[in-house]
Formats: sequence, structure tokens, C-alpha cells
Amino acid sequence: MKAATAIINRSALIHNYNTLKKLSPNSQLMAVVKANGYGHGALEIAKTLHFADYCGVARVDEALALRESGITSPILLLEGFVSEYCLPLLIEHQLETVIHCQEQLDMLLAFKSEQLIKVWLKLDTGMHRLGIRMEEAENAFMQLSCSAIVEKPINLMTHFACSDELDNPLTQNQINQFDTFSQTKAIGLSSLAASGGILFWPESRRDLNRAGIILYGVSPLTNKPAIDFDLKPVMQLESSLIAVRRHLKGESVGYNATWTGDRDTTIGVVAIGYGDGYSRSLKNGTPVLVNGREVPLIGRVSMDMITVDLGPNATDKVGDTVILWGKALPIERIALQNGLSPYELMTQLTSRLKLEYIDE
Ligand SMILES: *Cc1c(COP(=O)(O)O)cnc(C)c1O
Repeated sequence: MKAATAIINRSALIHNYNTLKKLSPNSQLMAVVKANGYGHGALEIAKTLHFADYCGVARVDEALALRESGITSPILLLEGFVSEYCLPLLIEHQLETVIHCQEQLDMLLAFKSEQLIKVWLKLDTGMHRLGIRMEEAENAFMQLSCSAIVEKPINLMTHFACSDELDNPLTQNQINQFDTFSQTKAIGLSSLAASGGILFWPESRRDLNRAGIILYGVSPLTNKPAIDFDLKPVMQLESSLIAVRRHLKGESVGYNATWTGDRDTTIGVVAIGYGDGYSRSLKNGTPVLVNGREVPLIGRVSMDMITVDLGPNATDKVGDTVILWGKALPIERIALQNGLSPYELMTQLTSRLKLEYIDE
């Protein structure tokens, strides 16, 4: 009997990478593998995409783990570094870094090294989270240009706040600010687009595109599933029925009795819960696939199991496979129905969940 497992389809991953390369053939493509590869296993994802132009991570430790397991692709630290003690590691392990604030800039400029560091100056064109404010960007660019340890020319990047809102003018405004700044300078590479930019804002596809969620075959916009863009879901989340029970009309099920049957039925108990990362926020009625048919989640998600209504005439048996999301049940649908983000559903998967890799 299968325990809670995420089946990761490497062929779908490679298909998605290649599809995104074709969509923007003159751009390099970064495989963003932060947060354990959005729950898919960062090392295995990076190994499968060993031919990727770039790997992107958020933290220095994530980059070191990739290097330790033999990943030789260029790696970019999307949040940069947090202390000057990281700087020798950048040199030793050939890590490129984002520079998003003056503190990082000061640490970098005070560092002495024979070897050069490749940097990406991050401009705050409207996200207002990380990035140098536009009125301070000239000065930051000049400081980097004068530094002896910074590789020239300097690369520029920015990040969109609303690229999944197709009629929000902020994205075009961010592109314009980026272009106004960069057009007057001799710069290296430009990087603007993450998943939303790559799919919905063709003008933002530049030298380097940063693909996170779409690489895993999931859309950043839950009402436009990734399948519409010829992207294939990489993960199938599965488990098994560990009990099939008779349930009478009027009886409740689970903690706090949040569901009560209005007819006699059969209840299936599935061995997956929030201890595996199947969110406790998922509500009554969330679809679950049992033997190819959609049945509703009922009652609270427990730590180790969930309950589903198999219906009065169910013939399902203990041991039968259950699919929580995947190709036949897009995670976008689960997210949309529950007002949740597919990003969060995937990255909150826990270490108890087994990861199994297939090629087909
Ligand atoms: C996480 C991240 C990405 C990837 O975002 P997706 O929406 O998953 O494609 C790209 N760029 C930066 C700076 C990020 O932090």
C-alpha cells in the first residue's frame, strides 16, 4: 500500500523547461529551485535540469547544497547574501548574487579578493519589497561600476508585483522604469520576468527569464491552468485508502464534527494529512480522486489522514490509490476552490512525504 507520496515526473519537468525555452528562444532560462524546488526536491530537480542556463535559489545554504551535490550550472542568489562572511563562499563556489540594498553594496565594496564577483543590481520598479529605489539607483550603479571586485558589465534585474493581473498597468509601468534606467547605460544582462512575466507579458522576456512555478507545470494564475500553455504538471500527490467505513445519516465525522451526513453513505479514510503538508485549510467539498472518480473531502484535515465521502454505492477498497492533485486533478483547481495559492500548497509539503521520481 502506498504511503503519502509525491510522484515527480522528470520527463514533464524537462518538457516544461524546453517549452519555456521555445517560447522565448533568445533568452536564457533560470530554473528556480528555492524552497526545496517548490516541494519537488531541489537537488533532484537541479540534477534533472543539469543543462539549465541558470539555477535560482533564495538562500546561500540552498546554493551550497546544490554545489555539494555536484551542480555546476551558474547559480544566482535571488536575495543576495546577508553577512560579509558569505562573500568568500560566493568566490569559492562561483555564486552570482543579487544586490538589492545599500548594506549589501557596502559589504561588497569593503571585500577584498583577487577574483571577481558577478552581480545583478536589483531595481525597485514598483514591488517595494527588495531592490534599490529608483532615485538611488544611479548612485548604486556607479558604485558597482567603480568596484575592482565586481565583474563588468553589471547585470540588472527587477521583479513584478502584479504580473498575474493581466489588466493591471503596474507591470508596464515597471517595464518602462527599468528601460528608462537601463537605456542610458552600458549594462550586462537584463532579467525582469518570473512565471507571470514569461506567460503574460512578452515584452518582459529579456536576456534571462526566471521560471519558478511554471517549470513545475503550475500556473501563477489559478483560473488559467498551466495545461493551456502546454505545460505539464510535474507532481502527482498520492496516498491510499486505509479504511472504508459504513456511515449513517445524521452522524458527523472528524474533529469538531464539521461535516454531517444527510444520507447513509460510505466514508473513505486516506493516509495523508497536514503532517505531510496537505493543508488543514482545505475545506469540505475539495475534490479528491478515488479510482478515477472525484469525491469530496469531508470534515477536518487531520495530521495523518483525511476523510472523503465515497457515496452510498461505493466499491472502493482499503489499499486503493487516492490522488490529491496532479495531471488528472490540477492543483490550480484545489487552490482556486479554497482561496489558497498553489505556491503555498506545494511548498508546505513536509519531509514526511515521500518523493518518488519517474520518467514517462
Ligand atoms: C521566487 C522568485 C522567482 C520565481 O517566481 P515564480 O513566480 O515562481 O516564477 C523569480 N524571481 C525572483 C526574484 C524570485 O524570488
